[in-house]
Amino acid sequence: MCLDCTAHDTDREQHSSTDDRETTGHSNWKRRSFLQATGVAAGTGTILGTQVDRASASHTECDAADRWVEAANHSARDFGIDWIVIHVTAGAYQGALNTLTSSNSGVSSHYLVKNYDWTDGPSAGHVDQLVHHNRAAWHARYIANHRSIGIEHEWFDDNGISDACYESSAELVRCIADMHDIPLEFYTSNTCIQNEPGGIIGHTHVPDGDCSSFHHDGRTCPYPDWDMDHFESLVKEEGGGGGGDQFQDGDQVVTTTDLNGREQPCLNDDVVLTLPEGTQGEVMNGPEECDGITWWGLHVPAYNEWVWCSENYLAHA
Ligand SMILES: [Zn+2]
Repeated sequence: MCLDCTAHDTDREQHSSTDDRETTGHSNWKRRSFLQATGVAAGTGTILGTQVDRASASHTECDAADRWVEAANHSARDFGIDWIVIHVTAGAYQGALNTLTSSNSGVSSHYLVKNYDWTDGPSAGHVDQLVHHNRAAWHARYIANHRSIGIEHEWFDDNGISDACYESSAELVRCIADMHDIPLEFYTSNTCIQNEPGGIIGHTHVPDGDCSSFHHDGRTCPYPDWDMDHFESLVKEEGGGGGGDQFQDGDQVVTTTDLNGREQPCLNDDVVLTLPEGTQGEVMNGPEECDGITWWGLHVPAYNEWVWCSENYLAHA
């Protein structure tokens, strides 16, 4: 949206088994890889983590999102979702988060991605979700708001876009595009979005209304620092890392030893519970690569929990 031009942008109308028990360095700000908040997770609130994180994570819709912070401004959608609109905030993270969630600002976005490690708040690459996909957030003009998911990225004073920010956003875009069948087409010029099948586009190139005028006020959000070609290459990379085709979503698996189930797919992440040998689970997410291990996200009905487990100690049930 570029927070310096809010007046124009409002949509006012309206674990291996035993060798890794120590769990250190956990931070609530750490980049989280929640199991996608569908099915059982969304309904039961058994999301993993601290109490605060449990509450917040239960509202996120993509596992790329780290935290739910509800925004005040949003509308019922008048159209389906076929676009993702990219923005920069023209302001530091904390202020941008306040603005994007405040009822008084007249603006909002579905997501806010932290760009810099040196500004207040979480580390670069942290993703907040502020508005549910089924609501129109107020990040552009009406027609774009009602057809898109809006992603804001912290940015100001020509400080550039960090690798962590690009990478988190690319993961987020892959999730959103998969969820809503949005084409991975990237648009870098003025586009009458209502006449195209959809894709990813910068704010400055979406129409204000009937395609006779486009958003070019002040800074040309998200440019000049945003590199859409670089971003496209990141989005189109195959996620999930090497190997890891042993299981598929929906497979029933069983633990082959007493196995730690972790909050996130890395050895230094919190142990949610230790699954006794022979515990059955369903593959719901993954594979992810971390610490030289391939991890799978499981739903474990016996405990009604979601956990990440090492592939080395899982077998087909
Ligand atoms: Zn913008």
